[in-house]
Amino acid sequence: MLQNNKVAIIGSGITGLTVAYSLQKNGVSCELFEKKNEPGGSVKTVRQGDWLTEYGPNTILLKDRVIADLLIELGLHVNKLIANPAASKRYIVRDGVLQPLPVSPSSAIGTELFSWRGKMRVLKEPFIKRSNNPDQTIAEFAERRLGAEMLDYAINPFVAGIYANNPENLSLRHTLPAMHRLENQYGSLIIGSLLGMRQRKNEGRISRELVSFENGLQQLPDKMASRLNKVYYNTEILKAARENGEWFLASKKNTFGPFSGVVINSPLYMMKQSLFPVSETDFKKMTDVHYPPLSVMHLGFLKEQVLHPLDGFGFLAPEKEKRSILGALFSSTLFPGRAPDGYHLLTVFIGGGRQPEIATLQSEEILDIVLEELDELIGVTGEPVFTDHVYWPKSIPAYHIGYDEVLDTIRKIETMQSGLFLAGNFRHGISVPDCIKNGLELAERIRSVSANKKNDSDT
Ligand SMILES: Cc1cc2nc3c(=O)[nH]c(=O)nc-3n(C[C@H](O)[C@H](O)[C@H](O)COP(=O)(O)OP(=O)(O)OC[C@H]3O[C@@H](n4cnc5c(N)ncnc54)[C@H](O)[C@@H]3O)c2cc1C
Repeated sequence: MLQNNKVAIIGSGITGLTVAYSLQKNGVSCELFEKKNEPGGSVKTVRQGDWLTEYGPNTILLKDRVIADLLIELGLHVNKLIANPAASKRYIVRDGVLQPLPVSPSSAIGTELFSWRGKMRVLKEPFIKRSNNPDQTIAEFAERRLGAEMLDYAINPFVAGIYANNPENLSLRHTLPAMHRLENQYGSLIIGSLLGMRQRKNEGRISRELVSFENGLQQLPDKMASRLNKVYYNTEILKAARENGEWFLASKKNTFGPFSGVVINSPLYMMKQSLFPVSETDFKKMTDVHYPPLSVMHLGFLKEQVLHPLDGFGFLAPEKEKRSILGALFSSTLFPGRAPDGYHLLTVFIGGGRQPEIATLQSEEILDIVLEELDELIGVTGEPVFTDHVYWPKSIPAYHIGYDEVLDTIRKIETMQSGLFLAGNFRHGISVPDCIKNGLELAERIRSVSANKKNDSDT
């Protein structure tokens, strides 16, 4: 990159914020542009009276030292909330009843969630041969290694809960690279998980914690943004173009620059072809990625209105159960301060890749569906005292079969346009921690490119 060494970041999602924060901390000046009036993108917390709701992510799984250190550096460790230990209990619906997911070998033997046949089939897993299909779906992989019952009652709900999608729609290698590696490296998920424990410790892993913050997850992007020297809100960048080796940006009213580099942290579906130099074919390949619609319904009830003790993280409904909801989080059990005293807060997920048509219904229709199902599953009576419906027309990118083509296209665009970087949850993981790690790595890459250029020009 060039002499001025100032980087523009378009989009204040968690990836863009991390890149900006890390560059600035290491002496590279940055300007960040966000079209909304606040930072965070999908990470959004809303307080209404004593109700605290998460519109996007609800929890962060903290397992990497580098992210724990970042929270300390930001001073957020003092606001960190570790999920209630009860949250280690996760329920799966089977035959209309909430069954706890087993967490130990002894609970796995006794569980009513899986049949004896299903359990015996899992024991065969170490003897199943590796696949020679380089890009299989999660469903193909799970059925082959663990059997149909595990696919239906463990993997299917897990994929709906995290990716708002079906295992049939997603590439194993891109969506769950760790599982793919276990099969490749050890020939077995069970053996690999046992043998890999030591290696994971050496990779900078810490004991896992499921966390949020006192004022919700948005404290993280808010804190990062507050540390940045230059952030422009309400500024949608319409064009990033390179002139004489330097980058200039244009919004509706202003131009900005010059910059030595530009990071675009916009979701693929928000990108316009005019935003950066790209051919029509390449643009189409990138933006064809599907983001299924998702509805999130926050519901508050008096504790007496709910029969179930809500003693856990929440529940997930496998597709086989033919429900109209994907599952629900017991939000007020997870963290304190989510609901007024004497009330429960539930966060229910509807739609995704499984039933996209339900996600798009009107709030009243969704509420009727949700209340009926919650009554059947956890014994909810009467009307909620609090409701808030959040609609994501496009929720989470689906890393589909053939996703290599998307990643190759992005790499090609970056190679052709010196100083241009595309970053966000459409690359190398959708979770908040993945986005942070990818942001830190990208900042490091940008710094090393600048350092090399500087050395070249010094010699
Ligand atoms: C409903 C839901 C639940 C989730 N739950 C979890 C969870 O529990 N745990 C977890 O770890 N992850 C979860 N995720 C995933 C995670 O939240 C996201 O993958 C991650 O936050 C995406 O970050 P990002 O960096 O890709 O940017 P994004 O969040 O996509 O933000 C991009 C930003 O760029 C801005 N922008 C776009 N174009 C322009 C432009 N031209 N000019 C200026 N600004 C622009 C946008 O306004 C936006 O602010 C969830 C996601 C959703 C939707």
